[in-house]
Amino acid sequence: MDLKKYVALVEDYPKEGIKFRDITPLMNDGAAYKFATDKVVEFAKEQDIDIVVGPEARGFIFGCPVSYALGVGFAPVRKPGKLPREVIEYAYDLEYGSNVLTMHRDAIKPGQRVLIVDDLLATGGTVEATVKLIEELGGVVAGLAFLIELEELKGIDKLKGYPVLTLMKY
Ligand code: AMP
Repeated sequence: MDLKKYVALVEDYPKEGIKFRDITPLMNDGAAYKFATDKVVEFAKEQDIDIVVGPEARGFIFGCPVSYALGVGFAPVRKPGKLPREVIEYAYDLEYGSNVLTMHRDAIKPGQRVLIVDDLLATGGTVEATVKLIEELGGVVAGLAFLIELEELKGIDKLKGYPVLTLMKY
């Protein structure tokens, strides 16, 4: 299946100069959503995963069905103030300013093999922060899966040594 048919390009969103890759048409099509999810599930089976982690919000949309298919749990990565119990935090720099991501302190048990799922790999800042949070909790990042990789931003360079699946490259 040609998944790129289900990705809408939105120019200058949310800011001028950004080519936003909108995956909502893919989620909207049952066959395409299942096809993409199944590819991630196949990859996850090779990595012997104990739990899936996804950054808000599109990481939930693709991570949760993978969890369900594998019969393993899901742990959310969220912006500060969204998770109600004790969290750990990781701050990282953006082009302008910085960002913080959090996870519940008890979300991952030491030694668990974790699959990170997100819609899109751009600079890799989000996923690098997610890796740091998981590793701080003692988890083992056993694989990372993205629907889309924006190759020119070279986010993949932040993931050297980890198994990575990307379904579409731009
Ligand atoms: P980054 O931390 O730079 O790798 O950005 C990753 C997050 O930002 C992903 O979870 C995407 O949801 C979102 N994102 C960044 N760039 C784009 C883009 N061009 N189109 C759609 N989403 C994007």
